[in-house]
Order: sequence, then structure tokens, then C-alpha cells
Amino acid sequence: MIVQDRKELEVKCSPVSIKEGEEIGVRLLHELRESENGIGLAANQIGINKRVCVINVKEPLVLINPKIVEKSKEKFVFPEGCLSFPDSKVKTIRHESIIVEADNHEGRLSFSANSKDINDAFECVCVQHEIDHLDGITMFDREFKSEPIINGVNAPKKIGRNEKVTITKGTESKVLKYKKAQPMLEDGWTLSI
Ligand SMILES: [Zn+2]
Repeated sequence: MIVQDRKELEVKCSPVSIKEGEEIGVRLLHELRESENGIGLAANQIGINKRVCVINVKEPLVLINPKIVEKSKEKFVFPEGCLSFPDSKVKTIRHESIIVEADNHEGRLSFSANSKDINDAFECVCVQHEIDHLDGITMFDREFKSEPIINGVNAPKKIGRNEKVTITKGTESKVLKYKKAQPMLEDGWTLSI
């Protein structure tokens, strides 16, 4: 059963031993595979308030006591979902690249959305999303707020030419610089922000 109560998910998880973490990791990967289309899951989403999460975008990855040790200044907007809130989609703002350390991995793991492969963006966002869960933070806390409404009209958001945006066409999506996305918008692609 996946926890769907937002209050319950707002609790910070505690550190765990590698052995216990590995056991929790196995349960999480099992639960994730059972899910409809989940790509990540944190232990508190199955009622275990310990610092373990799993990501399965390119390959299954278990992170025990993970920490983001470096993050880029550059950020990008991405449409996110969460297994705890199956009916919600939120446009969040995330770091374009991060470096993570975890007790069950030697060295550092790096994730970056700055690539031609959309799966890299999914993985980079997913790792940030799952580590947030362990700190009691949900995607709603990372929501991208567009410009305030002025005189009842949504003021157009100014997007820098080098700012990363997400564009979609049918089931396809890409993350790229706005200047590169602009001509594609005339070709049936739509901006996700
Ligand atoms: Zn989630």
C-alpha cells in the first residue's frame, strides 16, 4: 500500500544501516514494479520512515542515506507526478544537474538533464524528487510559480534564450534551451511551462 496522506509524508526520515537499507530497497523495487508507471519510490511512501529510495529510469538504483552534495545553479521546469498523488501533475523547478553520495555507493553519482536523452532529465528529476521525500518534502513544495495574475490576465512569463524548457508533442518530450525550442513551437510542439 502506498501512503497517500500528505501530512504523513511530511515527516523527515531517519538514517539507516546499509544492511537494513538494502532490505528496504528490495521491497521498494518490488513495490515500484507493481505500480502502473512509477519511476521512483521513497521508503516513507510505504510507511517506513527511513532514508532509502529507489529510482528506475534507465536501470534500478537503490540509494541508502543519499545526500545531494553539489547542485547546479541552472534550473529547469519539468512536469512531475508522484505515486502518492496519482491524480496530480505539478510543474516543478529542479536543478539541471546534481551530484549525490549514498552509503551503498562508492564515490559520487552524477545526474544531469543536460543531454539529448530525455531519460537523463527524468532520472535527474526523479532523484531530486525521491531525496525530497526523505526530507518530508513533496513535489507541491517545488511547484514552479508562473508570473502573478495582473488585472485578471496572466502576464506572459519572460523566458531567457538560454533557459531550459520542456516541450511536448504527443507522447514525446524534450528538454532544451528556449532559443532551440522556439522554432519547434511552430512545428506542433508545445511548451510545458
Ligand atoms: Zn513522489
